[in-house]
Amino acid sequence: MRIGVFICHCGSNIAGTVDCAKVAEIARSYPDVVYADDPMYTCAEPGQAAIEAAIHEHKLDGVVVASCSPRMHEPTFRRTVERAGLNRYMLEMANIREHVSWIGRDMNANTNKSAELVLLAVEKLRNNRPLLAKSFDVNKRVLVIGAGVAGIQAALDCADGGVPVVLVERDATIGGKMAKLDKTFPTVDCSACILGPKMVDVAQHSNITLYAYSEVEDISGYVGNFTVKIRKRTTYVDWNLCTGCGACTEKCPSKKTPDGFNELISNTTAITIAFPQAIPKKAVINAAHCRQFVKGKCGVCAKICPTGAIKYDMEDEIITEEVGSIVAATGYDLMDWTIYQEYGGGAYPDVITSLQYERLLNASGPTAGHIKRPSDGKEPKNIVFVQCVGSRDKSIGRPYCSGFCCMYTAKQAILTKDHIPDSQSYVFYMDIRAAGKMYDEFTRRTMEEYGTEYIRGRVSQIYPDGQGQLVVMGVDTLMGQAIEVKADLVVLAVGIEASKGAPQLAEKLRISYDSYGFFMESHVKLKPVETNTAGVYLAGVCQGTKDIPASVAQGSAAAAKVLALFSKDKLESDPQIAQVDMRRCVNCGKCIQCCPFGAIKEVEFRGEGKAQVIETVCQGCGLCTATCPQGAIQLSHATDNQILAEVNALCQC
Ligand code: FAD
Ligand code: SF4
Ligand code: SF4
Repeated sequence: MRIGVFICHCGSNIAGTVDCAKVAEIARSYPDVVYADDPMYTCAEPGQAAIEAAIHEHKLDGVVVASCSPRMHEPTFRRTVERAGLNRYMLEMANIREHVSWIGRDMNANTNKSAELVLLAVEKLRNNRPLLAKSFDVNKRVLVIGAGVAGIQAALDCADGGVPVVLVERDATIGGKMAKLDKTFPTVDCSACILGPKMVDVAQHSNITLYAYSEVEDISGYVGNFTVKIRKRTTYVDWNLCTGCGACTEKCPSKKTPDGFNELISNTTAITIAFPQAIPKKAVINAAHCRQFVKGKCGVCAKICPTGAIKYDMEDEIITEEVGSIVAATGYDLMDWTIYQEYGGGAYPDVITSLQYERLLNASGPTAGHIKRPSDGKEPKNIVFVQCVGSRDKSIGRPYCSGFCCMYTAKQAILTKDHIPDSQSYVFYMDIRAAGKMYDEFTRRTMEEYGTEYIRGRVSQIYPDGQGQLVVMGVDTLMGQAIEVKADLVVLAVGIEASKGAPQLAEKLRISYDSYGFFMESHVKLKPVETNTAGVYLAGVCQGTKDIPASVAQGSAAAAKVLALFSKDKLESDPQIAQVDMRRCVNCGKCIQCCPFGAIKEVEFRGEGKAQVIETVCQGCGLCTATCPQGAIQLSHATDNQILAEVNALCQC
């Protein structure tokens, strides 16, 4: 074999603590190495050109690049060697940046370790064989999970790009949190006016199939060919017949059903339509509060419905859809703030969440847009906003910032003054985070034009004063003194968390999630929309906190990825997959049980049952190879021989 070795300086990233020229010199003594060099930036155009030139000039049939993590540039260098006529699997990388120069400062030790890692890569390469990818058809339909503003944007952009979209939303209506908001920062324009038309577009788009009140039950398959099972939860109303006239909701006698759309701040009827602009505008029965279900008699809505849509015996339905790509856009929920006993733990009706306050501000909310205290319906004059309730609080295991609370608190203080001109708002804050375009100006307006008093410090306690008001106790850390404010209403800017069931959905999608349940992007900077599972993309707050502009931008970005994927008629399967040696297989089935992708099936081979890998489904994780007691499974490009060659080389170092 004729191997070329390239030791990248990566500017001073590697060369700062590794003697790259010396590593190249040592590499020249390794078996089959006929050429070694140490370019400044191997990934840059001149660096890649140098590799191509060396392949031609020295008739190389294998290349080792010692540089950064292969997660970063393996595809780059595979394309480089391919351009020069080599098979892309005749490239090996040694990570001497993340594994060496970034973690050690001793030049000698780093240089030696780099030389050893290069030796391992050379020995692996000597055992490599060219591998060929196979191509397969792509199903050019996309599944979007979650129809908040991010999912809506992704769905509309894909649909406008000619791609049929299956949109699955857990709630009875699409719109997510934005549908509940009154006005939006930093322009203070009406949320319904900008979201409403998009929601209608979703309903009317010929390329979008919407499943509301539904959840993804199961996902199998691989990029280009996913099979998705969707559970359409029963609404006890036949939506094909329901016209959304609302006659049932008017007559329903069970009027004490907590209203989820109004964040439980008011009650509704057991049969309800989420809100007047709901998409789809269809009725849903809440069986836990419906007299027909609880007491076995009522039937009023069935009698009143002019279209005969009520079906008390309706059951969940499972629907199967085939798609080639998936966008996850499941957003967020507010954390359970009632763990803060010092704020009353939910016992004081006039201590409410910011989202509940949005409903009070909203003209389609329970008070028709008049701010009223939940306890007595009176208009509050002194309103205290408390920021960072459950955000940046290590004591409850939530050190992260929820991102948009500083801004919406400023917005809510402005709206409060607009609604009640003689009111006074106070904001307890830790820091003001207003990094977006026109955001700092916006918070300044809240203080300077609207007279909102900002107090820097955490609130230590909230308690009723016995005369109808609440006492908010805290410390003004700028003044260095304790402070007490009397409040008619307290609004908590409650921290966010990943939406309920996000980790379980991540397992179904086979994507990673962080310790807080937010989905992980493939690369923080360069692949913020992709996941580690090919064909699965992210949009909106499910990946991490984002306001509406950023959620919309990421929705469009995810759609662009889907459209780019679907621009090809065929996709290539990665040949780094498992292969069963039928002669060794004893059909114990352990590989079938352990494979997380369902990529191994039992087949008949010469009259006996044997395991066989489904090539397009196998993700090359290697679990089966480690599990097989017979050693009957090998993973291409990570065979026993290749790994042992590296181990042997290490033992000789
Ligand atoms: P979401 O709005 O949470 O939507 C996610 C959707 O996915 C929901 O419909 C949910 O039901 C659905 N879903 C969840 N799990 C599943 C599942 N497993 N299957 C199917 N569907 C699922 N931002 C601004 O820019 N301006 C503002 O003025 C503003 N005000 C705010 C005020 C408050 C009080 C709060 C709390 C936030 C505010 N925000 C504001 C932030 C804004 O709410 C978010 O940026 C935006 O809602 C993010 O959209 P999303 O689609 O990512 O998530
Ligand atoms: Fe739908 Fe019938 Fe209720 Fe009208 S009465 S909203 S048609 S279920
Ligand atoms: Fe065959 Fe090994 Fe799978 Fe058992 S574990 S079925 S022996 S391949």
